[in-house]
Amino acid sequence: MKIRVGLGFDVHRLVAGRECRLGGVVLPHPTGPLGHSDGDAVLHAIADAVLGAAGLDDLGTAFPDRDPRWKDADSATLLRECAARARSAGWRVGNVDVVIATEGPRIAPHRSAMRARIAEILGIDADDVNVKGKTLEGLGALAGGAGVAVQAVCLLQHDGN
Ligand code: MG
Repeated sequence: MKIRVGLGFDVHRLVAGRECRLGGVVLPHPTGPLGHSDGDAVLHAIADAVLGAAGLDDLGTAFPDRDPRWKDADSATLLRECAARARSAGWRVGNVDVVIATEGPRIAPHRSAMRARIAEILGIDADDVNVKGKTLEGLGALAGGAGVAVQAVCLLQHDGN
């Protein structure tokens, strides 16, 4: 069986007055990711991992942030579309693994909800999605809750030939 791995990365500022939506889940937090869409850096990183593994450009090319159609877009819709494009090319998602680096919202209490939601969007089992939170040890521009950075890897399996 043919398999491929894809890597995704995303970073967003966390600012007041924005809903804190990460991994498709709304977290109770006074700041949220700034962005043209809902700013869900977790779903964006996963989408780039899926597209990368499938050899299908990247999220910014598929859904340009200058396009008014994607203003305040639900990133679940974008990720679902990316997975559909990969499926159309014969690829299905094997598993996804995610690291969320932030000193904003606490990730641990929401890991299982994120896993379930990401799995639902991708149409795979929650067992095949993992989410981990990391602090930044007070270092760098994202320290103190100024932002969120996300890395994701995705394994794709090809259906045939
Ligand atoms: Mg993004």
